[in-house]
This record gives sequence, C-alpha cells and structure tokens, in this order.
Amino acid sequence: MPYDDQNIFAKILRGEIPCKKVYENEFVLAFHDINPQKKIHVLVIPKGHYKDFEDFNQRASDKEIVEFNKSVSEVVKVLNVQATGYRILSNIGSDGGQEVPHLHYHIFAGEKVGKMVS
Ligand code: AMP
Repeated sequence: MPYDDQNIFAKILRGEIPCKKVYENEFVLAFHDINPQKKIHVLVIPKGHYKDFEDFNQRASDKEIVEFNKSVSEVVKVLNVQATGYRILSNIGSDGGQEVPHLHYHIFAGEKVGKMVS
C-alpha cells in the first residue's frame, strides 16, 4: 500500500492540524501525543513521507536515517530524561498495532514505563 498523505501526521506536518511541538529540525518534528499513556509521551516523526519503519529503511537516504536517529536523542535531551530513562517504541502494521500510517517513534518517560508488552 502506498503512503497516504491524508493521514493525521501528514496533516500536522503541513500545518493543517495543530500539535504541541517539543522539537523540530530539518528532518523531524516531535510533539506530545494527544492521548498520553505515560506522564511524558512524545511522538517523533520524519518529515519525509514514510509509512513505517520498514518503508523508511527501504526508501529513505542514509542521511535521513542517521539524522532521524540523532534527532530522537535531541528530543530526549529536550525532555531531560536521559538520567531517569525512557522507552522508544514503534508500531508497525496491523499486528504491531499501528494506527497512523506515517512512521513515528513513541517516547515514554517521566515515570516507570512498566511491562514491556501487554
Ligand atoms: P500508533 O498506534 O503507534 O499508530 O500511534 C498513533 C498515536 O498517535 C496514538 O498514540 C495517538 O494517541 C496519537 N495521535 C493521534 N492523533 C494525534 C494528534 N492529532 N496529535 C497527537 N497525537 C495524535
């Protein structure tokens, strides 16, 4: 299935829908999840149009992949949770529980995140 540019994160990237921005650079946008599952729940998305982790690794340039990963660390710094820890998670496809078909990493922090998988 090709990338659907009507997904909600594509709309956020185009500025059609607001978000509570945490961090932005040339490659990524990070914002608070609208329905936080932990005290801190932030999403990091690439600005390029990739539907999931697999699509990103297949089609993104090496620079985009490196910059995306480095940017996640920048977001962690902004959140100031390096010392206390955090969890990064990405859902892929229907078995993975992915709802929005634009690659995103969830960052959970601010309290014990709990069981790895429920
Ligand atoms: P996933 O199930 O991994 O696709 O996660 C999608 C996440 O996007 C969920 O945690 C939603 O709460 C979140 N979400 C959906 N719409 C918005 C929005 N407009 N702004 C921020 N987060 C959103």
